[in-house]
Amino acid sequence: MTTNPRVGLGYDIHRLVEGRPLILGGVKIDHPKGPFAHSDGDVVLHAIIDALLGAAALGDIGELFPDTDPAHKDADSAILLKQVVSRVRDAGFKPTNVDVNIHAEKPKLSPHKPAIRDSVAKLLDLDPGCVNIKAKTNETLGPIGNEQAIACTTVVMLIAA
Ligand code: MG
Repeated sequence: MTTNPRVGLGYDIHRLVEGRPLILGGVKIDHPKGPFAHSDGDVVLHAIIDALLGAAALGDIGELFPDTDPAHKDADSAILLKQVVSRVRDAGFKPTNVDVNIHAEKPKLSPHKPAIRDSVAKLLDLDPGCVNIKAKTNETLGPIGNEQAIACTTVVMLIAA
């Protein structure tokens, strides 16, 4: 196995519907809409999971946690992430930093960034200084701009554990 650093890219998107809880990076955000999803629909953690799996060449979230499996109904994504971190460790890697872009027209996410950063850092066993949370609107364009969807893109770097 190589000891070179490994980079992974993750992306996730969910439809937003009335009356579902909005959870981002394991943090519950007060908002009238939340993701329509089989699990809790945490786009941040789902994107991080795919970035981790990508960097370790371990496949993708849909292969590990199929949305046809009743065991993952309303699943806490923090628990799924912990399982993935453990698989990544078994493969000989650990995350060293993560950069997150949340794409959402609403709510305004700046007040929530510190809590999301601390939560993600804790879940990945990282110093908060190794986690960056960015938020962007979609300039009112398309389904994200129309508040019909929320998405997240992330990049994760792995080093030898
Ligand atoms: Mg998802």
